[in-house]
Amino acid sequence: MRSGSCHCGAVRFTVQGEVEQAMECNCSHCSRKGFLLWFVPRDAFELSSGSERLTSYTFNKHVIEHQFCSTCGCQAFALGRKPDGSEMAAINVRCLEGVDLETLKRIPVNGREF
Ligand SMILES: [Zn+2]
Repeated sequence: MRSGSCHCGAVRFTVQGEVEQAMECNCSHCSRKGFLLWFVPRDAFELSSGSERLTSYTFNKHVIEHQFCSTCGCQAFALGRKPDGSEMAAINVRCLEGVDLETLKRIPVNGREF
């Protein structure tokens, strides 16, 4: 299990599972925020605190809720659905504790083309 938080610590969460790789997407949103994303089933994600601080940002088809802390501006995760309809969470690996970003396998995604 992994713990994560926003920068100020108001928003805290846990994720079940192990980070084996992260998606690095070049779309206009991901590149601006510098995301390294780990996709997990929605059930594997649990918000421990800070729901009252979260602000939701959506764009394009508005199917993914990008949740960021209204105090520090960190976006630690997003909630949405996969193309097959199942609920998922996209975790910003940079906001997790204990992940070695130097050795983490990064999968490039050409989101700019979508
Ligand atoms: Zn915060």
